[in-house]
Amino acid sequence: MGSLSGSPLRMAAPGRYQFEFLESTRETPTTSSYRFSTSGTGFRYLSNQAIRLILPRVQDPWGPARTFSLSSSPSEPDVAQVTVKRTASPYKVALDALTPGERVLALGPVGDLLYDRTRESLFIAGGIGVSPFRGMIRYASDTGDHARVVLLYSARSAREFAFKSELDEIARKDPRISIRYTVTRPAESGEPWEGPTGRIDARTVQIELERLVRPRVFVVGTPGMAIETLDMLRQRLGVAEADLEYEFFRGYRG
Ligand SMILES: Cc1cc2nc3c(=O)[nH]c(=O)nc-3n(C[C@H](O)[C@H](O)[C@H](O)COP(=O)(O)OP(=O)(O)OC[C@H]3O[C@@H](n4cnc5c(N)ncnc54)[C@H](O)[C@@H]3O)c2cc1C
Repeated sequence: MGSLSGSPLRMAAPGRYQFEFLESTRETPTTSSYRFSTSGTGFRYLSNQAIRLILPRVQDPWGPARTFSLSSSPSEPDVAQVTVKRTASPYKVALDALTPGERVLALGPVGDLLYDRTRESLFIAGGIGVSPFRGMIRYASDTGDHARVVLLYSARSAREFAFKSELDEIARKDPRISIRYTVTRPAESGEPWEGPTGRIDARTVQIELERLVRPRVFVVGTPGMAIETLDMLRQRLGVAEADLEYEFFRGYRG
């Protein structure tokens, strides 16, 4: 990897690729990751773009394709991973039924939610919205040469933090990466949690904005979470539009 002052980001033109399904991992009771081999396909992406994944044999009222952020990092060779909230949609059932060696069609890379490791970054994730941030944090950690990164991550319960042990391990080794968790519905899960509770609020964000030097602020989550958080950033905290990046996971209510 180049140095911190390296070359500007070059985005690959989207294409059509055949990925081979490798394996799935249950990240939390409601989310799973799906890993695909990109070996020999020439697929390249930037941290952290998305793909449109088309499954074979799907009878779904909304069709055989969905868009997913990549939760893998370009520093992980020959692999593309997506992390998905499990639902009963025919598409998700078919995704979960893939067997190793099966081929799927991927269109991409798409999206311009691009991590710039030369600038300080404040990541704000609601639930499944952590997906691209896992890729960005892994990328920052693997490249080593990056400005400070803070992730504020909210989930319904302590069991719903995807990638927690990996993220904690990365933050333990890299003093320029910090992760702060908050549980929004602590009573619901029955899981012990002694950390912060409630949504990511203006006070918490303000503290991080004061610690960092004019960070780029990224917000990713369901439309409800992302709109509410962007309102707070713009109206209550006065974050400049030029410093804001966001992605709405359309397709989820709330
Ligand atoms: C840029 C981007 C990145 C994303 N990244 C992720 C990710 O990393 N992980 C993840 O889990 N999800 C992600 N999503 C959301 C994902 O594409 C799916 O929309 C979501 O997973 C729901 O799919 P489903 O099959 O469970 O739901 P379904 O209920 O079957 O919905 C499927 C699709 O139909 C549409 N739809 C459903 N109901 C209606 C309605 N009443 N009117 C109009 N349209 C409707 C939705 O827009 C959705 O695209 C992303 C979306 C975008 C746009």
